[in-house]
Amino acid sequence: MTTTTETATITVHAPATGEVVGTVPDLDAAAVHALAERARAAQPGWQALGFAGRAVILRKMQRWIMDHADELVATICAETGKTHEDALIAEVNYGAAAFGFWARQAPRYLGDSRVRTTQLLVRGKRLRSRYRPVGVVGVIGPWNYPLTNSFGDAIPALAAGNAVILKPSEVTPFTSLLLARGLAECGLPDGVFAVATGTGATGAAVVDEVDMVMFTGSTTTGRRVAAAAAARLIPASLELGGKDPMIVLADADVERAANHAAYYATFNCGQTCIAVERCYVEAPIYDEFVARVSAKVAALRQGVPNGPGSVDVGSLTFAPQVEVVERHVADAVARGARLLVGGERGDQKAGLWFQPTVLVDVDHSMEIMREETFGPTLPIMRVADADEAIRLANDSAYGLSASIFTRDVARGEALGRRLEAGAVTINDAVVNYTALELPMGGAKPGSGIGRRHGKEGITKYCRQQSMLSSRLHLRHDLHMHPYTARRTGQLFALLKLLNRGLTR
Ligand code: NDP
Repeated sequence: MTTTTETATITVHAPATGEVVGTVPDLDAAAVHALAERARAAQPGWQALGFAGRAVILRKMQRWIMDHADELVATICAETGKTHEDALIAEVNYGAAAFGFWARQAPRYLGDSRVRTTQLLVRGKRLRSRYRPVGVVGVIGPWNYPLTNSFGDAIPALAAGNAVILKPSEVTPFTSLLLARGLAECGLPDGVFAVATGTGATGAAVVDEVDMVMFTGSTTTGRRVAAAAAARLIPASLELGGKDPMIVLADADVERAANHAAYYATFNCGQTCIAVERCYVEAPIYDEFVARVSAKVAALRQGVPNGPGSVDVGSLTFAPQVEVVERHVADAVARGARLLVGGERGDQKAGLWFQPTVLVDVDHSMEIMREETFGPTLPIMRVADADEAIRLANDSAYGLSASIFTRDVARGEALGRRLEAGAVTINDAVVNYTALELPMGGAKPGSGIGRRHGKEGITKYCRQQSMLSSRLHLRHDLHMHPYTARRTGQLFALLKLLNRGLTR
């Protein structure tokens, strides 16, 4: 919930209460250009520190985050409306771990690697491949995880030796500003990291200045960012929307599956790109599963977060999102769905609220099964068998993650290979995100291009450089001018030998 004033500032409101959190500047293109110039001037010095020099500051920041956990949690909760636990576990913990991880892994992922060759003209030479930072990276993030999904993508970019301009969502800028203070206190050289607060226009200005853009957000805006990056011929990595399915097979541990469905559909008030957004349950256990999930969701305590353990589910974060959730639920009910739990905004006096909600008798004619809802809703659909579940799970423009619950893990994995999803979990959901070694990203255009985490989670912030060194050599190589029939004949004889399998 924001309002832009004539003095080019943005007022940020607490979504749980409607109270004012504070104001931030709404930077225009000239201000973003100035940040980019400072970043460009500071970047070579940061790169020159090398992996070890940068790691010192990154590791300090890992500790800083834990030392300032209370302040961070309070800031995140104020501007997002999420619970203390959602802020602590999925954000603060992630941020600290990510600083340690990228400090340790950057040299492993980006350092020189030896390349072997069998090709005649380069035999005996030393071939290496390495990565150089692109220069200035633009990170543009959403409001659902201001630390993890917004600031978090700046961490590997910095570890690679880049300067970063971060454009946080206009509704959640304060987390990024606090972390910028942390980086400065940990000794990050001036200009290497900047926060460009502002609206979508500020984000567009960032894309116009940087050498690579990492975008997380909606599919619609992602398409715009990709087009702007293409016009400048700069690389873009896009983490977009999701509509993640959970499949529960007849042999599943129903209690574990029900706990996962209830939790991962409603934690962070359902505003997680890899949240469980829809559920397909095999007929023999459908009734038991629905009863267990409904009881668990009905027992959730929703309200204004006020410290550890105060509530289970907080508010939504972004005003238009309340309307999307309400529209999806109304559309489902109008088409014959039955509400078992929730289904309304609730009776909070102020703020952005929607109750944790369970729906049944749903089908794929309904928006709630096809569009990203991004709210605390769980539609559950009965299926005849695993084949029907896989078909329905794949019937989507999105393909971020998917989960399968079954006691037969080998069968679950075999079925998982048929799912069009960037990540598949068996008897688990969402926690794969915490494995920073494991690549994460979309398998269909609607969910984006590129990967976060793993090797590609940092090489994307670099340009690859190949190196060839020649130590032992003739003064004149065999293939050079002048061409003579005799030498061409010798060369051809050699090529024939090599291409008959002698080089394997
Ligand atoms: P948006 O796409 O609306 O906005 C994302 C960011 O882009 C914001 O900072 C926004 O600024 C900025 N922006 C808006 N217009 C432009 C533009 N033309 N050029 C550059 N930047 C621009 O997404 P939301 O903030 O609404 O985030 C929710 C979405 O993010 C959901 O669809 C969700 O699935 C997705 N998401 C995906 C994740 C993933 O890893 N795949 C993780 C988390 C969320 P401003 O807010 O100021 O308008």
